[in-house]
Amino acid sequence: MKKIIIIAAVLVFSLTLFQGNPSQVMAQKKKLITIASGWVTGCYYPLGGSISRILFQNPDLGLRATVESSGASVANSNLIANGDADVAILQNDIAYYAYNGQRMFAADTGNKQAENMRAICTLYPEYIQIQALKKSNIRTPADLKGKRVCVGPLGSGTEVNAGQILEMYGLTFDDLAKVERLTSKESSDFMKDGRIDAAFYTVGLGAAVLADTAFMTSCTLVNIDDQHAAKLIKKYPFYAQFPIKAGTYKDSEEVKTVAVLSMLVTRADMPEKDIYNFTKAIFENLETVHKAHAALKDVSLESAMDGMSVPLHPGAKKYFQEKGIQIPAGY
Ligand code: GLU
Repeated sequence: MKKIIIIAAVLVFSLTLFQGNPSQVMAQKKKLITIASGWVTGCYYPLGGSISRILFQNPDLGLRATVESSGASVANSNLIANGDADVAILQNDIAYYAYNGQRMFAADTGNKQAENMRAICTLYPEYIQIQALKKSNIRTPADLKGKRVCVGPLGSGTEVNAGQILEMYGLTFDDLAKVERLTSKESSDFMKDGRIDAAFYTVGLGAAVLADTAFMTSCTLVNIDDQHAAKLIKKYPFYAQFPIKAGTYKDSEEVKTVAVLSMLVTRADMPEKDIYNFTKAIFENLETVHKAHAALKDVSLESAMDGMSVPLHPGAKKYFQEKGIQIPAGY
């Protein structure tokens, strides 16, 4: 009898161990999606956080996510190409160059062509914002000549946009007195300390990096006029012209600039079911995304195919087709 009781006790104990508590079991079964995001003081990182929250709140989907910060677009494309991230947030212009192996993704550039990149959706406009110290008297990008400039973090899309904009004014990075590639946090600190005159940021409006710098030091936004914007859009069609309203950053005046779009991408070898569920989770919980940052309020089902630049993943395509969203030809 004693033996039977002991055996029964051991059995019950091991069963309990094996089963664990229900939430642990769910967590173990959930598939982990790694999301390559961007700057902690930008918009990609808060967006990644909101997606991770949505998956956590919808355990039935069987997915969970970890969010990594990074320099952003170019670095994230390499993570996709090398299979080191499952999902990435990046700019639609950079995604196009990466998928097609052009420019900074051509052979021998140190970056890898991402033929395996597949789109989930496009997200919200990212404005090319050039913030400058008031005392540096920089009114147009032409005035950046001979100045100390942060052209964006290492591995950013910003750096690519900075080069293209300077090109429109007949300048290259060699015309700058100093070229810095700093994280967005460092860039803001350098500006506050007067160690740089200006910084480029391709980021959603109201990003913490610009707001914080404007709060702490006297600075302005640099205007890109119609003529130069038109020339830029002609050569690099992913840009569109946008104004930035006065007062966006403390006492900033109204300026005109250009913007690209951010997007979510994944790898071609990700299972259709997982990407379908991932896409559905985001678009059926958009209020969580919208709450994570003001710039994310532009994320919508209706605009999810705008400016599409790489072929869609079948899982995402299935979701948008079910929702009656027109898929652009060829994607
Ligand atoms: N668009 C930026 C870049 O790739 C990143 C912005 C962000 O992290 O919000 O340079």
